[in-house]
Amino acid sequence: MATQRPSFPVRLTPTASAATRGRVPATLVKPMMPSTPSMASDAVRARMVQKLAAQGISDPRVLRAMGAVDRHRFVDSALVNQAYEDTSLPIGLGQTISKPSVVARMIELLLGAPALAGKPQERLGRVLEIGTGCGYQAAVLNQVATEVYSIERLRGLHERARANLRHFRLTTVHLMLGDGMLGYAKGAPYAGIIAAAGGEAVPEAWVSQLAVGGRIVAPTHSANGGQALVVIDKTPRGLERLILEAVHFVPLKSGIA
Ligand code: SAH
Repeated sequence: MATQRPSFPVRLTPTASAATRGRVPATLVKPMMPSTPSMASDAVRARMVQKLAAQGISDPRVLRAMGAVDRHRFVDSALVNQAYEDTSLPIGLGQTISKPSVVARMIELLLGAPALAGKPQERLGRVLEIGTGCGYQAAVLNQVATEVYSIERLRGLHERARANLRHFRLTTVHLMLGDGMLGYAKGAPYAGIIAAAGGEAVPEAWVSQLAVGGRIVAPTHSANGGQALVVIDKTPRGLERLILEAVHFVPLKSGIA
C-alpha cells in the first residue's frame, strides 16, 4: 500500500487565521485547538478505532485512516470531549460533522469501487467529496486516496475547513467553494465521489464525472420519506445501483450561500 506519505505534523500553535480576511465571523474560522494533550487523544482515538472494528468495519485502510486523523481538531473546543464518541456534532451554520461510524462505513464502501476489486492494499485515485463541512472527512479521505477535491456551498464552512486543514499542511486536498450538485468538472474523472448531504437523487453531473471503474456513495431520499445510502458503480457494461441502509444527513442544497 502506498502509505509513504508522512503522518500529520502536529503543531500546537495556530497559523494565520482566515479570520484576518474579515469575510466571516472569527468564531467560525478559528482553527480548533485541542484542549487535551495529544497522547491522551491518541488513546481515545485508538479506542474509537477498536469500536469501529467491533461494529464491522474491517478494511485496514479505513481503520488506519480513522486512527490517523485527529477528529478533536475539527470540532468546537466546547465539544472536544465528545470528539471520539460515535455521534454527529454541530459544526456551525446548522450543519453537522457525521459520526465516525458513518464516515468509516461510507469510505469502506467507496474503497469497494470496481477499479479496486482484488487490490485490498491500494489507494483510490482522485476523489470528490460533496460537502466539506469542517474538513474532517476530507482529511480521512486523504489517507486512502491519491488526491481529494472537496466542495462546500457555505462560505463560512469552506473558510473554516481551510483554517482547520491548514494545520495539517495536506498538499493533496483541494478545497473549493461552489455548488457540489454540479460536481467539479475540473478534477474529473473521479475514482470515487462521496456526498455528505442528501438530495432527491444522485445528480447526473456526478455520474458523468465518475471514471469507469469508479463508485459514488451518497445519501438520497428513499421511498418511505427518509434517506438511504446509495452506491452507484460505473462499469464498462453501464451503471449498477445498490440501495443500502437508512441514514440521516443534512440536505443537499443548490447554490452558494
Ligand atoms: N464531510 C463533512 C460533513 C459536512 S455536513 C465533515 O466532515 O464535516 C454536509 C455539508 O454539505 C454541509 O456543510 C453543507 O453545507 C454541504 N452541502 C449541502 N449541499 C451542498 C452542495 N450542493 N454543494 C456543496 N456542499 C453542500
